Amino acid sequence: MSSVAIEFGFTPDQEAFRASVREFLKREVEPIAGRIDEEERFPLESVAKMREEGYFGVPIPEEYGGLGLGKIGYCLLLEEVGRVDASHSAILGAHTSLGAVPILYYGTEEQRRRWLVPAARGEKLLAFSLTEPGSGSDSGAVQTTAERSGDDFVLNGTKIYVTNGKEADTVLVLAGTDVKLGPSGGVTAFLLDQGLEGFRVGRCEKKMGLHGTSTAELVLDHVRVGPERVLGGVGKGFHVAMSALDVGRVSLGAGSIGAIEASLGASLEFAQRRTQFGLPISEYQAIQFKLADMAMRARALRYLVYQAAARQDRMGNDPAAWSRLDRAEKTRESATVKCLASEWACEAVDEAVQIHGGLGYIRGTAIERAYRDARILRIFEGTNEIQRVVVARDLLARGL
Ligand SMILES: Cc1cc2nc3c(=O)[nH]c(=O)nc-3n(C[C@H](O)[C@H](O)[C@H](O)COP(=O)(O)OP(=O)(O)OC[C@H]3O[C@@H](n4cnc5c(N)ncnc54)[C@H](O)[C@@H]3O)c2cc1C
Repeated sequence: MSSVAIEFGFTPDQEAFRASVREFLKREVEPIAGRIDEEERFPLESVAKMREEGYFGVPIPEEYGGLGLGKIGYCLLLEEVGRVDASHSAILGAHTSLGAVPILYYGTEEQRRRWLVPAARGEKLLAFSLTEPGSGSDSGAVQTTAERSGDDFVLNGTKIYVTNGKEADTVLVLAGTDVKLGPSGGVTAFLLDQGLEGFRVGRCEKKMGLHGTSTAELVLDHVRVGPERVLGGVGKGFHVAMSALDVGRVSLGAGSIGAIEASLGASLEFAQRRTQFGLPISEYQAIQFKLADMAMRARALRYLVYQAAARQDRMGNDPAAWSRLDRAEKTRESATVKCLASEWACEAVDEAVQIHGGLGYIRGTAIERAYRDARILRIFEGTNEIQRVVVARDLLARGL
């Protein structure tokens, strides 16, 4: 196992970025988050303002249109957004870690200029499409095909549950180029623009939470594309997808810190105000222990998340330069973060509802919305069962 940092602090610039994000969210997102949830619509107004702030390109280097704040800056952003509204986190996450970062990692210079620069500037929205009706956790079993036709590829299939799928200008789509080879070698990543002939948005799902995001079906009916849309090389799609998910899982962990701290903040405030049996409920140990658990977990997660983000920053943006050890550590670490963070976030919002009593169950409160929104954290970007498979597999292969 490689060495771990024993001390971690943010630079003044990182703290200043966090403060400016917090102020932005208070002004632009907090006031509309409840309404967006109620109306079940994509938050066009705040997305436009996030674009002006550069939030769609936080970890992308400045030479490609981003803010150049690395994975640490990106996690700071998502931690703060996670305090306020999970739909905004999901929109940013699908675009950035699952859409833009793989283009940064695997794109040719031409692809970066064509797709990454406008995405990092927020002029174009991205999405990531791996899941299919028959292939979820078993993501290597994609049924969507990309058959060669001269220099071109012709794609056919149906993708589901694509976050940003309805609004995205470009979707990173995984398709099978050689089914016999399976995930490693048989799957290829393509950059598909909306408007390509035969490529269309199908049904959009109604959901328990994340009402500000679209979760769309994408239909590919003989979509003909040239080789310039292949990202990372033919047969390399699974690597592209997995390294995107490594980044996404850590940023999901950052958002979970935000969700836990928001639950804790609301619960602390409520518990000291709400009196029963002649005392504020915060005087009862049963309530204090819930608050303490939330606080301990948020603190522990902060180390895990930013340790993982710092590793990814240190490794840099060229996958060819990553050592085998760094790759393995990165993957185990991101699975660990994702699994623990999402479980602790779900427990925190659940306990926050409990502390709020009946009020926590009433539609329209931030706690009730957070409770519905948090549940997906244990499912998307790989279910937690799959995160445990990843950790166990690595344990068995490499030991502790
Ligand atoms: C709101 C939302 C947004 C999403 N956004 C995106 C997106 O942007 N892009 C995208 O590609 N996908 C997206 N997804 C899909 C998501 O990643 C999948 O739903 C998830 O990976 C699980 O796949 P599945 O739904 O097919 O469940 P299944 O894989 O069918 O799993 C069902 C159950 O079986 C368990 N299971 C499966 N295999 C194993 C095993 N080997 N060992 C133990 N347990 C196992 C699972 O953990 C789960 O509990 C989204 C989903 C939702 C609901």
